[in-house]
Amino acid sequence: TTAIVLFRRDLRLNDNPALSAAYASHSRVLPLYIHTENEDAPWQLGGASRWWLHHSLRALHEQLRERGGQLHLCKGNTLPSLRDVIEHSGTRAVYWNRRYEPAAIARDTHVKQALREQGIEVHSYSATLWREPWQVQTKQDAPYRVFTPYWRSVRPTLSVVEPLPEPTGVEWADIPGSAPLEAFELLPRIPWYKAFGESWCPGERGAWDMLELFCDDALRDYAAARDRPARHGTSRLSPHLHFGEISPQQIFHALHRHAQRIDTRRRPDIEPYLRELGWREFAYHLLYHFPRTPVESFNPRFADFPWAPDDDALLRRWQQGRTGIPLVDAGMRELWQTGWMHNRVRMVVASLLTKNLRQHWLHGARWFWDTLVDADLANNTLGWQWVAGCGADAAPYFRIFNPVSQAQKFDPDGTYLRRWLPELAQLPNDLLHEPWKDASVAQRTGYLPPMLNLQASRAAALGAYASWHA
Ligand code: FAD
Repeated sequence: TTAIVLFRRDLRLNDNPALSAAYASHSRVLPLYIHTENEDAPWQLGGASRWWLHHSLRALHEQLRERGGQLHLCKGNTLPSLRDVIEHSGTRAVYWNRRYEPAAIARDTHVKQALREQGIEVHSYSATLWREPWQVQTKQDAPYRVFTPYWRSVRPTLSVVEPLPEPTGVEWADIPGSAPLEAFELLPRIPWYKAFGESWCPGERGAWDMLELFCDDALRDYAAARDRPARHGTSRLSPHLHFGEISPQQIFHALHRHAQRIDTRRRPDIEPYLRELGWREFAYHLLYHFPRTPVESFNPRFADFPWAPDDDALLRRWQQGRTGIPLVDAGMRELWQTGWMHNRVRMVVASLLTKNLRQHWLHGARWFWDTLVDADLANNTLGWQWVAGCGADAAPYFRIFNPVSQAQKFDPDGTYLRRWLPELAQLPNDLLHEPWKDASVAQRTGYLPPMLNLQASRAAALGAYASWHA
């Protein structure tokens, strides 16, 4: 018999439980991807994610071709598309790995029920998280709202598990009528993404190359270097994790194996890195239990928070990296040019938007959603609400990042600033961090004077917060 394996955010052949289970029970496997434009609304794929998906699907298709198969592509809503493939392939079983976004859960529940009523078997698996969000609970049977106790309860339950190997000897099935990848029209019309390929290689192999690079170059020093935006000090696995080209289980296993090969005195500590993956798990835990948080502040008190009126002109200057505040502009340009931004800088640009400029965090979340290759509903929601002070376990509102002291501390020699702000590259360090100190810099370099006074806007934000909070 033939089984359909529906690929979604699990674009890999190794450690893929749905694929392995389908292969274990059926003689033939039909790999399928359905491109649905609107089923994830209001969080349908952003531009940078579309670029990634295009290349990741191509990579998966190539992997399957090397094994004598191919990825069957359809465009349309999930249920009718699946029914069509089921009918034409004579399949009676569908396998997929779970997704956790609210719209995906609603869709999957509906599809599963409709197919089962039709007599089709549907099997779903956990493939992108260590623990299912509903498996982790406080002693009071409630979801966690604070990271540290969450991680304290989850971490001891995790162990190094041998990931599932890629099934070998699969007989791949297909039916006529696969759409060409180009029919998905994933590549955005504005070709701003042209340079993304210099930073990224979407697909399962690209993920493993990135992991290897991290193990060789950055793992040892991760705890200290992860805050240095100029360094390649983090793993840059976020888009690969988002699209499921690699799993946390595989990463844990690989890091552990790598560390074991090094003698005990020099063995790198992998815990700080696992803890970051723990934040990702926590973000999914929150998204599952509090599904309104992508559009509403987690803390209900923030429903009447006095955000400043929406201001398109101001938002545009922030988006374009033209605020006149070097670290913010460097981050926003890194985002625009590479589809990614360093975590420390994400916090700084988000703080400027939501606090100094007092714009609603959703404006920032939407821009990130469109421009990040790792745009992820769980992590993005958590990140924005954490910085804005309205999330679960958030930084308090009155913690306002100072972009100048952050740059002086984490990019003291200005390497990161010079990389993304070439017009300022010749300035000495003190001026590079505060170019407004010399009025001639703007004239000489064309770099804009700051669009706001950092001290005054900080005081205004704190004042607004104090009178609201009183
Ligand atoms: P590493 O330091 O190598 O971390 C390894 C992995 O752990 C990451 O790939 C990621 O999956 C996870 N991780 C690390 N930090 C966090 C965190 N703070 N929260 C949740 N998971 C984390 N991350 C996204 O994947 N998608 C987003 O859309 C996203 N939006 C963000 C928005 C804001 C405002 C902020 C402050 C953070 C956001 N993050 C987001 C979290 C974090 O910035 C990125 O995960 C990280 O920079 C990715 O780089 P890396 O893979 O090199 O991270």
